[in-house]
Amino acid sequence: MDKKKLIIIGSGPAGFTAAIYAARANLFPTLYEGFLSGPSGGQLMTTTDVENYPGFPQGILGPKMMEEFRKQALRFGTTILTEDVLSVELSKRPFIVKGGNTQLQAEALILATGANAKRLDIPGTRDGELWQKGVTACAVCDGAAPIFRNKDLFVIGGGDSAVEEAIFLTKYGKKVYIVHRRDVLRASKIMADRAKKHSKIEILWDAVIEKVVGDKVVESVILKNLKTNQVDIKEAGGVFFAIGHSPNTQFLQNQVKLLPNGYIDVKPGGTQTSIEGVFAAGDVQDHLYRQAVTAAGSGCMAALDAEKWLSAQESA
Ligand code: NAP
Repeated sequence: MDKKKLIIIGSGPAGFTAAIYAARANLFPTLYEGFLSGPSGGQLMTTTDVENYPGFPQGILGPKMMEEFRKQALRFGTTILTEDVLSVELSKRPFIVKGGNTQLQAEALILATGANAKRLDIPGTRDGELWQKGVTACAVCDGAAPIFRNKDLFVIGGGDSAVEEAIFLTKYGKKVYIVHRRDVLRASKIMADRAKKHSKIEILWDAVIEKVVGDKVVESVILKNLKTNQVDIKEAGGVFFAIGHSPNTQFLQNQVKLLPNGYIDVKPGGTQTSIEGVFAAGDVQDHLYRQAVTAAGSGCMAALDAEKWLSAQESA
């Protein structure tokens, strides 16, 4: 079996940044970019303009940005494999990585498989319908887009993310509705109070969106009160899912320590996982910040940590 010094799993900002740093440090990284699991580039492939990544004053399209990350990783000699990793064996070194077509050994490993925002299967919100045409799962990424300006916006969820995103959206929307399936918010008290007191936010309790309607972009939502069964139609310019994220860690069960919420447990302030020689970067180990720039930063940290660890192994 072919043995690599460093294998990186994941092709978002974390994975590619790790690859750029590792390749420049002569670690000759091999990066699995995925295939059926989603497009190379991760969550940014499903966004439009990225306007909060420093260095792009006019903004840049998410897919274009990831194409540039990928090119930069290739430029310094990263080997990219377009396949999914099906399983890993981390109980002994060298580690084993089993992909769709390949099986490789790795002296060190960086896990950067990201997370996906959860969505609900509401008619009108699916891919090919109004997804990314007013329906998104990231207010911070997409909320400032012109289509949401001075419109009534709907955030689905009742946790801290829903409240935070609703507050963020008040900068752009005419009014922001939080659509929550229960009559009490899950969000922390301080956040819940902020939402309740905000003059531009209204919470629709015990409510669900049954359908999102629009020709080319979102135009209205059909709401249902779960207690009274009353159905209501409201004008809408945007619908934002804020019902949590799922880290892509299914293939890591029983291999590396995961937190109860499924994210990889890393040493505070670093990227070291519970297994020596295995590092984690990006959203797969971060349920709080989840930004492209923080993911890229932790990808850099993981590559530096891996480099240091590998050189300590060599000189031992
Ligand atoms: P979360 O706390 O898990 O909340 C998810 C919300 O979505 C819940 O209100 C839940 O409703 C709702 N939901 C889930 N599935 C649903 C479905 N099928 N239909 C309708 N509603 C559904 O997730 P989060 O808000 O993303 O927060 C994740 C973690 O990050 C939390 O620990 C949070 O405190 C933290 N966070 C902190 C901050 C901050 O401090 N500034 C900001 C963001 C996130 P139920 O309540 O009925 O279950």
